Amino acid sequence: MKVLLTTLNSKYVHSNLALKYLYLAGKHVCDGLDIKEYTINNSRDYVFTELVTADYDAVCFSCYIWNIEKILELAADLKKARPQIQILLGGPEVSYDGEQVLRDNPLVDFVLTGEGEGSFPQWCRALAGDVSFDQAAGLVYRSHGRIYANPVAEPVNLLQIPFPYETFPCETDRVIYYESSRGCPFGCSYCISSLDKRIRSLPEERVKADLRCFLDQNVKQVKFLDRTFNWDKARTLEIFRFLMDQDNGVTNFHFEICADLLDDELFLVLGQAREGLFQFEIGIQSTNGDTLSAVRRSSDTAAVLASVGRLVLLGNSHIHVDLIAGLPYEDYRIFRKSFNDVYALGADNLQLGFLKLLKGTSIRADEKKYGYVYMSKAPYQIISNQFLTAEEVCRLKQIETVLDLYYNRGGFAHTLSEAVSATAETPFDFYEALAGYYYAEGFQHRSHKKEDLYRILFQFFGSMGRGEQFLPLLERDLKQTMNFDAVKKFFRKGWTIL
Ligand code: SF4
Repeated sequence: MKVLLTTLNSKYVHSNLALKYLYLAGKHVCDGLDIKEYTINNSRDYVFTELVTADYDAVCFSCYIWNIEKILELAADLKKARPQIQILLGGPEVSYDGEQVLRDNPLVDFVLTGEGEGSFPQWCRALAGDVSFDQAAGLVYRSHGRIYANPVAEPVNLLQIPFPYETFPCETDRVIYYESSRGCPFGCSYCISSLDKRIRSLPEERVKADLRCFLDQNVKQVKFLDRTFNWDKARTLEIFRFLMDQDNGVTNFHFEICADLLDDELFLVLGQAREGLFQFEIGIQSTNGDTLSAVRRSSDTAAVLASVGRLVLLGNSHIHVDLIAGLPYEDYRIFRKSFNDVYALGADNLQLGFLKLLKGTSIRADEKKYGYVYMSKAPYQIISNQFLTAEEVCRLKQIETVLDLYYNRGGFAHTLSEAVSATAETPFDFYEALAGYYYAEGFQHRSHKKEDLYRILFQFFGSMGRGEQFLPLLERDLKQTMNFDAVKKFFRKGWTIL
């Protein structure tokens, strides 16, 4: 049997760890198992031709919010081209309503729900005719015109999953994903990880052996997929210390952490890490108490803000913080406060995200309670709720655009540190005014080189009669960001955007 495991990643630098796990789980029962990864940016014809001409008996797609629409189209076309091919869908985007997915997509043959490492080999055996489909855990399938859904498999023991990078090379031009634990102890109502509260983790010795493999190969970045890496302080300390002891001077390790679980002992250890060894992603989401209670986030906001501030002050790790617009009880005015509270921390990256009402989450079940209106197709992003109008959500998206261009991408540090407080009551008001200017002038209609962003900011200051005041700071940032020749060229062209 020739069976392909495939997906459309959101970018080339991303890779899919789940496919590697399934390959390792299924290769003993299916000789002709293969993996191919594409991206959502590959042309439909390119991927379609690859799949049609390779003569597969079955193609299995890994489905997420960023690829589900394209995969459904591709799978249907593939079935039309080769009706004998069997199509299986798996992944979080089809796991919570497998029967509905089969009803809505008559050209799809199977949906595999739940964790696939145990059930995928069972499906392979059933496909080969060795067992019947009702023996494959989590499988949703058709038989005699009816749809059947088998009970989902028990969560797998992570120790039974082999380390994937012994079989698959660490691709140097891609982010390397690694998972040392599954599940999250917290219950945030908008997050599918909250549905798996039983944390399963690999023993520390196994984790260290796996990490040594990355260190020995000098890979650039390892991104832990663990949902809250520091849920267990002793384990966290042990792994941080190991990485600091074995540091190769090159590899960076990215962790999603809960900031209010950091204590003095952890800060003491982190303070000794090489600059660039660690990168932390911290979901703050909101600083409004009613909002956090409504989404069942139990974090202590004051402690979170204090810890993030301390991490930023240490100055040796890249700090990324997240806010989510569209949560309950957070109107435009309250969101402004959350934004200002978080902006004041001075993290390297502030991601302003928008609530997605994901399948399987309890906030989606509560949509009526909060008057949610959201996109009917993935990524199910908020359009409005009883606290934010659609126009306000769009205004926040405009703010997100300029925040990304000017704050997150870097290159404006001196200018922003002065201008934000000198020209606006709060940081939110500054970015709101900049977004208003940017969109009113129509700059959103084309992409801009970095140098044009300096010109736009200069013109924005000029619109307030303060262009000359900030010119020296803009020049300073420009000279620090661009090379000598580019700066010379910039000054030849001048400050007017053409
Ligand atoms: S948002 Fe983070 S802390 Fe909350 S349930 Fe999801 S993974 Fe856990």
